[in-house]
Amino acid sequence: MPTDYDKIRKDNIREYGEGTRHLSFLGRLYTDRTHFVFELLQNAEDAGANRIRFHLFDNRLEVTHDGRRFNERDVRGVCGVGEGTKNEDLTQIGKFGIGFKSVYAYTATPEIYSGSEDFKIENYVRPYPVPSKPAGNSWTTLFVFPFNTKKISPETACNEISARLCNLTARTLLFLRKINEIEYKLPSSTGGVYLREEIARGPGRQVSVIGQNNDKDEEENWLIFERPVKAPETLETVRVEASFRIESEDMAGMNFERIVKVKESPLVVYFPTDKATRFGFLIQGPYRTTPSRDNIPIDDKWNETLVKETAELLRDILSIIKDLGLLSVSFLDALPIRTEDFPKDSMFYPIVESIRNALIKEELLPADDGSFVSAENAKLARGADLRKLLRKAQLKKLFQSPATMKWLAGEITQDKTPDLRSYLIKQLDVEEISPDGLARKFDHSFLSDQPDDWFIEFYRYLSDKEALWRKPRWKRDPGGILRSEPILRLDNGNQEAPFKPEGTIPNAFLPPSEETDFPIVKRSIAADEQAYAFLKRLGLSEPDVFDHIVERVLPKYIEIGGDSISAAEHQADIEKIVRAMSSTSEAGKRKVIQAARRTPFLKATNPSGDTLFKKPVDIYRNTSELLRYFSGTQEVWFLNDEDRDVWHDLGVSSLPRKVQTSEGLPDEEKEYSTQTETIENYDLDGLEEFLKTIQEISNFEEQKKSASVLWNFLRDYLEMDARFFKAKYQWFYYTSHSKYFSSMIFIRLKNAKWIPTKEGSLKIPAEITLDQLPEEFLGATELMENLGFAKEIEQSKEERKRELAIEFNVSIEDIELLKNHPDEFKQFKADLATRNKKRPIFPSRQVPNPERRQERLAEQRSDAPDKEYEKRKNSVRITNSAIDPATWLRNTYTNENDQMVCQICKNEMPFRKPDGKHYFEKKEVLSRKHLPKEHETQYLALCPLCSAKYDVFIKTNDGLMVKLKDTIVSTEKYEIPISFGDEKTSIRFREDHLEDLKTILKEMG
Ligand SMILES: [Zn+2]
Repeated sequence: MPTDYDKIRKDNIREYGEGTRHLSFLGRLYTDRTHFVFELLQNAEDAGANRIRFHLFDNRLEVTHDGRRFNERDVRGVCGVGEGTKNEDLTQIGKFGIGFKSVYAYTATPEIYSGSEDFKIENYVRPYPVPSKPAGNSWTTLFVFPFNTKKISPETACNEISARLCNLTARTLLFLRKINEIEYKLPSSTGGVYLREEIARGPGRQVSVIGQNNDKDEEENWLIFERPVKAPETLETVRVEASFRIESEDMAGMNFERIVKVKESPLVVYFPTDKATRFGFLIQGPYRTTPSRDNIPIDDKWNETLVKETAELLRDILSIIKDLGLLSVSFLDALPIRTEDFPKDSMFYPIVESIRNALIKEELLPADDGSFVSAENAKLARGADLRKLLRKAQLKKLFQSPATMKWLAGEITQDKTPDLRSYLIKQLDVEEISPDGLARKFDHSFLSDQPDDWFIEFYRYLSDKEALWRKPRWKRDPGGILRSEPILRLDNGNQEAPFKPEGTIPNAFLPPSEETDFPIVKRSIAADEQAYAFLKRLGLSEPDVFDHIVERVLPKYIEIGGDSISAAEHQADIEKIVRAMSSTSEAGKRKVIQAARRTPFLKATNPSGDTLFKKPVDIYRNTSELLRYFSGTQEVWFLNDEDRDVWHDLGVSSLPRKVQTSEGLPDEEKEYSTQTETIENYDLDGLEEFLKTIQEISNFEEQKKSASVLWNFLRDYLEMDARFFKAKYQWFYYTSHSKYFSSMIFIRLKNAKWIPTKEGSLKIPAEITLDQLPEEFLGATELMENLGFAKEIEQSKEERKRELAIEFNVSIEDIELLKNHPDEFKQFKADLATRNKKRPIFPSRQVPNPERRQERLAEQRSDAPDKEYEKRKNSVRITNSAIDPATWLRNTYTNENDQMVCQICKNEMPFRKPDGKHYFEKKEVLSRKHLPKEHETQYLALCPLCSAKYDVFIKTNDGLMVKLKDTIVSTEKYEIPISFGDEKTSIRFREDHLEDLKTILKEMG
């Protein structure tokens, strides 16, 4: 029995009135009016249909499906406006509520033939009976939509609907549960079909969607998981879903499945919306949309609930994917790992956070050994050899972790998966271990624990990592870090550092072929060819004659003392040392000298006749000059062993030694200093006694002989060191200062009567003129000048200085200035050198994918706020950008040596703040007028000086601004010339910075 259409009609006239123009909005529900196709699909799905067919004619569209037949309730629903159209009733979307009404965009009189119902609707709400028209075959329901509206011609209707049907994709079917076939036919009798097949897989389902569309075939496989959600009010259960695309690959005859990231991932509300999620997978849920379905309200309680439930779902999915064997690097790449796509306040952030928390705590990251590890127990290795070197147990011990630590899979690298790597490090706090970082972790306890075989691996590993064990390059350079770590496994089982703290003296040797009692590297380890080659490059050698002296001969004199050594043995030792010192091996000799200087192995005698073993540096040669010079001194030791030239190299002296002291600064030289001042003054060993003794000699000839000895000593010293009579004073006031003053040696010589005259007496130097000096004292010009009694020479020297000054075009004052400020001059030279040569490396980064980058920027741009200025004292900018420009600039312009570089002077920023970060100023490239949008790329990182110059010379000049903007847009280079007044310089950009800036400027015209 068909429904009583007359009664419904009368009821509806009562409810909606005689006029129906107020219902004409029903034809304008959607911005895109072809959207009714999706509404009909949804109707058929709700009616439980398996198949649906769209048949388009020139003047009408016929839609048939095989779902449940119409009953009276359906007739009332399809003819009514109120029922099922309440906005809150989310579960009703697509039922015969407002959805069906979207057909009024193209028809004024829809007809429906289903079961015993055959009727058409006029004026939106008034049903009339019509003659029956069988749907045919197994179809149960037929809709006919004649194109008969006033506004749209049949031709337009036909074209628009045709385009929509052709543009459906197999994905349209993805989240449907009942319909598994959509077919369409166009007036041209072409058409297409979309099919869906599904099988259960784990707790989810695998859905294949296939499309044959105008000779274009497509097939996609998806894994879909769902989570039930209770809808408010109705308490009906709805679902949120997530779907991952699977691809199969044939590898070596085997079929491998993997989850792949999808590029387009609109939010799906049964059917795709215009809202991009930016995920590498799809999520579906009954989100509340705007009436025209083209947007999703973000601050909507229900939508927030759905996002939260989806976040929970995703968390569960991670473990399911792992159980299904699909948790791979490719899968991780589909997750929201590009954090710049998901700011904290974005709609889907809870999903991003949920996934991140799961990855941190649960074992969901592919490890190097094929298992899985949580981010908190994972380490990234820089280099595959590092992963090979350290296994799980070793990692655990090295990082002193209670849990088992694992390396992440080797596929995760800067080159192959840059986004994932950066996500792991920055968002999941996974530490990336570099060879250097690892070296710093090694300690005695860890190394002692490792088996011998491991050291062979370890030494092989180290052979191409020279930075870790390189030799010292300058004084006090400790060299590579491992030189002083106990990385050597010795034959006796001990762990030793390769070298003693001073740097180059080895603690152990390479094993010689014969037996030895030297400490040697374990023979079984050194037997490995590569390990041996490494140890050799490290600087170890087989023990030689030099080592024998350093390790065996000299220590005896300290340990048991020279007196316990027989004369014959002592003689033999002396011969060994002399022989070693006559070798051509400079390195070998250096070893011996270093050790021998401070070993008491030489016999020496003092004036009292005592003979003891003394260090070479404490002994004087047994010369008649020295004996004479020291005749008034008791505390002096002369060589007793046979004199050899080599002793001189070891420190036995033939001149009285200079003795350093920090006393003797005259009061008038003292300066105000805010830090510790240093005085480097010198006395001469035995000088005080000498000057006393010489007075007591009664015979003038003898006095003259003694004076002549000292005279010759002084002359020798002055030849070696023109500043021999100078002492140095250093103080600090704002900066470090220094000056020279007369040394204690000079003061003693100046004030004592020790210069013999022709007349036969001793006088102080100042009392004597040149013509009074005895013959044998003449000819030592330097000495005479220094002692200050030769006025004539002094004058001629002044003359020479003046001539030189003229020749080199410098003033004498400047020369004096240089001479008197040696430290300042040194600083000045160093500054010059830094400025000229040691420019820091300018940071560089190639732009890997310019198109994607421009696209992303364009998206960001449309969201970026206009700059707002508030009228305050200094017109302070109040807009906040998504990324803090200061942080961004710091990262962009800091090079790999942790130097932040100024974009204009290209020098390192001049100082660091107490937190260790460089101080710099961020400066807008262009003024607001020329760059009205807020974005971090519009800033420059400048040192304070360049920043001030930029303000003064560039930003005040509007003409320059325009020119600069044009140059930036058109340049092919990353360096843009500018002038600060007369000073020509340039702005240098990191490549990606300039590319982005260009894009933004171009966009704004
Ligand atoms: Zn600068």
